[in-house]
Amino acid sequence: MGPGPSDVNPRVTNAMGASTIGHLDPAFVTLMDEIKQLLQYAFKTRNRATIPISAPGSAGMEACFVNLVEPGDKVIVCQNGVFGGRMKENVERCGATAILVQDAWGEAVDPNKVEEALQSNPDAKMLAFVHAETSTGACSDVRLLTSLAHKFGCLSLVDSVTGLAGVELDVDGWEVDAIYSGTQKCLSCPPGLSPISFGPRAVEVIKNRKTKVQSWFLDMQLMMAYWDGDASRTYHHTAPVNNMYGLHEALVILQEEGLENSWARHALNHNALAAGVEAMGLQFVVSKEARLPQLNSITVPEGVKESAVRARLLEDFNLEIGAGLGALAGKVWRIGLMGHGSSKTNVLRCLGALDAVLSDMKAPINSGQAVAAAMAVYR
Ligand SMILES: *Cc1c(COP(=O)(O)O)cnc(C)c1O
Repeated sequence: MGPGPSDVNPRVTNAMGASTIGHLDPAFVTLMDEIKQLLQYAFKTRNRATIPISAPGSAGMEACFVNLVEPGDKVIVCQNGVFGGRMKENVERCGATAILVQDAWGEAVDPNKVEEALQSNPDAKMLAFVHAETSTGACSDVRLLTSLAHKFGCLSLVDSVTGLAGVELDVDGWEVDAIYSGTQKCLSCPPGLSPISFGPRAVEVIKNRKTKVQSWFLDMQLMMAYWDGDASRTYHHTAPVNNMYGLHEALVILQEEGLENSWARHALNHNALAAGVEAMGLQFVVSKEARLPQLNSITVPEGVKESAVRARLLEDFNLEIGAGLGALAGKVWRIGLMGHGSSKTNVLRCLGALDAVLSDMKAPINSGQAVAAAMAVYR
């Protein structure tokens, strides 16, 4: 129950144990086509350029930047946690200039600040931001930020590594131009793949590049020669075949449940966990309106050593929760309720364990009330 990798459904690990076939085997090509369709379902898009990159979420981030940004470009980057900082780093390594819009850790990206930055940088090419900031648990408004970008003639690039399948996302409805995700958060797959999708505006930008994409491996035009087309598919790299089996199964599970039902399940389990946490007298880092259901950052109470609590949870309850990152290191716990791990039993188990450990440490909490408060939400 940390910030990912999340619990993997046994159906996914079973699927991954099937025999390894060739990455150009007709059966594998069929599987690739199904993965593309299932990803289109998960992202709510008809974008043809919707594929999993054969590397973790960070590679999806990098694929978006290296394909869309050229030397001399200007990109507005929103930073409200760890991952916005990595976006800035990507922009600069593309030889472009990053204009930072900063918000406090734990807050959503402020649309007013974004509008100001767009106004004072009319030559900006793209607005990049994180949908679901895993380092804090804050959710930003993808629809609003994308519409602001378009109002000023910019592309929008969205990091939804933790957002996808856990919280509402509508790539076509919100006209998102480029987006990347990961497999080990709310899709509940092992880590190692990064679903991405490029919309029509982004595809145009890639077609009209003046310079070659500096990364051969992540060049979308080369990659699509393997992922797209009929009989003409050519070898680009050896796809991680068994990981693709796993992603396929995870996406089938998502489709069986229904995307909207998955969002609703994440919301319900979050509400139950929040009721328990608040009954204990603990505080969330993020205000109620901006909270992600799948990533719950909780402030460590005064006088409690946060790492000691995590160690006890792991040792006594075989339960992993996450530590704070960067500015929040040592100050918060991050409880993940992602994908297969977002369940009633996990919520109740986690609250019971946290209550027991904190009570045993004589921490200043209301003991023995958390589980009942969560159960009341389910009832
Ligand atoms: C996990 C995560 C990433 C990086 O994904 P990796 O698979 O670890 O490379 C990027 N952005 C966000 C918001 C994440 O949560």
